[in-house]
Amino acid sequence: MARLILNITVLILSLLGLQGCATNPVTGKSQFMLISESQERQLGAEQYGPTIQSQGGQYYLDPDLQVYVRQVGEKLARVSDQPDLPYEFVVINSSIPNAWALPSGKIAINRGLLTEMEDEAQLAAVLSHEIVHAAARHSAQRLQQGLLLNAGLAGLGIMVSDNDFRDIILGGAAVGATLTIAKYGRGHELESDAYGMEYMARAGYDPQAAVELQEIFVKLAGDRESSWFDGLFASHPPSQERVARNRDKAQQLGTSARFRGKAEYARATAALRKRIPAYKAYDEGVKALSEGNIQAALGKTEEAIRLEPEEAMFYALRGDIHQKLGDEQKALADYNRAVELYPEHYAYLLKRGTARQQQGLNELALQDLQKSAELLPTSLAYYAMGEAALGLEAHQQALQYFQIASEGGGETGQMARDRAQTLARQLRRQ
Ligand SMILES: [Zn+2]
Repeated sequence: MARLILNITVLILSLLGLQGCATNPVTGKSQFMLISESQERQLGAEQYGPTIQSQGGQYYLDPDLQVYVRQVGEKLARVSDQPDLPYEFVVINSSIPNAWALPSGKIAINRGLLTEMEDEAQLAAVLSHEIVHAAARHSAQRLQQGLLLNAGLAGLGIMVSDNDFRDIILGGAAVGATLTIAKYGRGHELESDAYGMEYMARAGYDPQAAVELQEIFVKLAGDRESSWFDGLFASHPPSQERVARNRDKAQQLGTSARFRGKAEYARATAALRKRIPAYKAYDEGVKALSEGNIQAALGKTEEAIRLEPEEAMFYALRGDIHQKLGDEQKALADYNRAVELYPEHYAYLLKRGTARQQQGLNELALQDLQKSAELLPTSLAYYAMGEAALGLEAHQQALQYFQIASEGGGETGQMARDRAQTLARQLRRQ
């Protein structure tokens, strides 16, 4: 994490010379901006991939749904105050009802939020809210207010929580994950609601959907059943105040825009809705495993696989369970299936690479782990790469991997530091 702090410090120091007033592209107000738009574009482009990875990866089972969400997003982006940003929209494979925006229009929505909504106008309310966060440069403002720096320092490493498998993102790749967690201020939330509703009306959507959406959020946030979702709207705190303000705004915008898109939304999300029981079984399996209830976890995971045999996530979880039960062969077979179904997710490659390393398949392990670290650099990947390199007697290389892993802090970081010290002593003696 030292590298992350260094990166941010360098970023902030390099900006001190570039101070100036800029006109906010959305509000038209003059404001003090240290971060240039080209720096924002660079940040957004660099962070989007790793952030999608750390939040669960793409919802790859439904390419048509990805296209649909992108089309709705682009319709709104075109009528926004920043139509020329390099917008991207993606559906993330996560049950947590959430959505986020990185600088310069890199936007994501979780499938767990899509299943809470009833029509396209409500989806438009979520996406237009995120578009305003990007267009009004809210993340740049959070960055320069030091919020991100504080979050990075306090957290000292962003944990990726995936079942029983916790890891720490290394280096600059943690900035995007931090941005998805760091809370927006009340002012930014109200601004995103209000301008988002303007964009909805311009695109023909009924702004009343934003009122309903806020009501859904308030209900979800207060729902105790959902409290085990740590990340629930941490970044966009819902409130009764927002419900009331949105109601006023909808009234002010009038009734000329009326499109709801109920049938369109039902069609686009039909396949996802059919999979709700499978993901529910999976989520219960994850919970059971985290509580140490291994047989219940296995039962739930088998149920999920029966309901949806093409979801990589389910095999990855069953692999973890077999690992716990000491059945390495079955674990590896499940990790193989997960990678086969979705080869572009760091977590599945990390699990298989670690399992391969533990079975002495060091060269194959290194291939998996290197690819995993390219998608999202984590301390566990570098630690396992160190072990694999040791197995291949590549001591200098192993030392480098352990040194990188030790930057992550936490338990893995400490283990890596010990390994690196021992190894460095041995190498000096030779
Ligand atoms: Zn927000």
